[in-house]
Amino acid sequence: MFKAVCSDCGKECEVPFKPVEGRPVFCKECYMKKIGKEPRAPREEMPMPKETKAVKKVPEEEAEAESEETEEFKESEEEL
Ligand SMILES: [Zn+2]
Repeated sequence: MFKAVCSDCGKECEVPFKPVEGRPVFCKECYMKKIGKEPRAPREEMPMPKETKAVKKVPEEEAEAESEETEEFKESEEEL
């Protein structure tokens, strides 16, 4: 702990860090007061997308058509 003088109330206090010259040092009371004064960041509620209906339907007909093509190719290789 380091002895310092609160730059707010002028009271002698101890701080857990080495007081830097030129920088204000606050006692616990003033420090807490300062923190309490700072406005707390409001919770940002993320808008959750409720409608997520992205259903992709793979057409089965296409796959069947491909198999049919191969069959046709086989048929074309008939004996002349
Ligand atoms: Zn103080």
